Amino acid sequence: MTTMDTKSDTTTLSSYNPSTGEEVGRVPITPVSQIDSVIAKARAALPGWQALSAQERADMLKGAGEALVARAEELGELLSREQGKPIPEGIGEVQGCGSRLAEEADEIAKAVAPEVLKDEGVESTIYYDGYGVCAAITPWNFPILMPHWMILPALVAGNTVVCKPSEQTPLIADAYVKVLQAFLPDGVLQIVHGEDAQGKALVAGDVDMIAFTGSKNAGQHIMASAAKGLKRLILELGSKDPMIVLEGADLETAAAFGARNALRNCGQVCVSTERIYVQESIKSEFMDKLIEKVQEFKVGDCAMEGATMGPMVMRAQKDHVLKQIDDALSKGATKVHGGEPMDGNFVAPTVLDGCTHDMDIMTVETFGPVVCVAGVKDDAEAVEKANDTEYGLGAVVFGEDTKAREVGRKLTAGMVGVNRSLGGASGSPWVGARNSGYSYHSGPMGHRQFCQVRVVSTNN
Ligand code: NAD
Repeated sequence: MTTMDTKSDTTTLSSYNPSTGEEVGRVPITPVSQIDSVIAKARAALPGWQALSAQERADMLKGAGEALVARAEELGELLSREQGKPIPEGIGEVQGCGSRLAEEADEIAKAVAPEVLKDEGVESTIYYDGYGVCAAITPWNFPILMPHWMILPALVAGNTVVCKPSEQTPLIADAYVKVLQAFLPDGVLQIVHGEDAQGKALVAGDVDMIAFTGSKNAGQHIMASAAKGLKRLILELGSKDPMIVLEGADLETAAAFGARNALRNCGQVCVSTERIYVQESIKSEFMDKLIEKVQEFKVGDCAMEGATMGPMVMRAQKDHVLKQIDDALSKGATKVHGGEPMDGNFVAPTVLDGCTHDMDIMTVETFGPVVCVAGVKDDAEAVEKANDTEYGLGAVVFGEDTKAREVGRKLTAGMVGVNRSLGGASGSPWVGARNSGYSYHSGPMGHRQFCQVRVVSTNN
């Protein structure tokens, strides 16, 4: 997303603190004309990298986890200053990537180890080989976690990687890549900076696969461009996640989940709760609890003591959210909490009731701190409304356990949480359905998406 907040001259890209407008730092822009030579360097590094076993590659990277943990405070603060989330959350993001890196690297190596299948007379070995050069193109909302989720499996699986991070958050991605590079042979991991032009050049260049997390529009463009070379794709795109609250739900837990999952990271989360469908019989009690939980959020600069919600990452994102709120109000929604004007890129946490599907805010991704509620008469209507979307990343249901499980199974999202968040047990993939995803990552199944499968069979 190119925005007016991203000011660059022809050689450097500046990154701004979205709370204050101050410049946090700059990175050199990679001229589009140089992208091909960056890819060529990644290709030249492939034979040496692929000569190692997955476990050797994993072991080589493990020190990077310790290095990230050792610098978690410094890097977390940098992350927050350029992205806006409260500093403890920024530190947590860095800490989370670093502290689990060694374990994840082992998990990936195990997932891509060869497997042997035997029948009478034939023995087949299934190999999981890296595709080759992987382009990793990432968004700004979790600006270290998103690159980490792609780069680590791509590398351990035997690909060399060229990362193109969001132009909104280049500094933390640059720092992350430098930490990893210190443990890697030259050319195995590189970073290019710029806006969508650099991303487009990378996709069109001599890469074998593209792992992309970002908006649906960019994903469609990438898919069209990749079709020319039949390049392998992982696309993790936007969503419009629903939450269903039925009779028998623990309303305290459901309200706390709904408020937090709609407002964390200022709503700038791909699996944010963007629509809540609550059964009419319990709606009034649920709304009281929901508003109580929303009131607990404290908006402020990332460095403000006790802040739990920062600003939108950029002005264009704020304008989009306010426009959707105005559209909803003009079509009959009621503002039951918040919505007061705020300076700069800040948006007050807002609760809207009476939301319907003729409103933009119930169909188009908001990516902002708005909790949208609609009443439904029963679970059948809740399922119908929840599935009435082009997207399908996540969905959650709260209700009496048996009924909630039954409803959960009818939802068309890729990840469904029943009386809990959608985060799965370890080993579960991160998977979007419909227009939220194409292929997927994480967990052993996801790690293998970075691999070409080859089967070699012999007589036995
Ligand atoms: P974006 O699509 O605008 O940009 C993402 C990256 O793609 C940036 O690095 C950008 O420079 C680059 N880019 C843009 N157009 C391109 C093109 N045509 N070709 C190649 N590269 C291009 O997305 P964003 O605003 O940075 O991120 C927000 C979006 O990301 C939301 O829609 C959100 O739902 C989605 N997201 C999805 C997941 C998931 O797991 N499904 C996770 C996080 C964010």
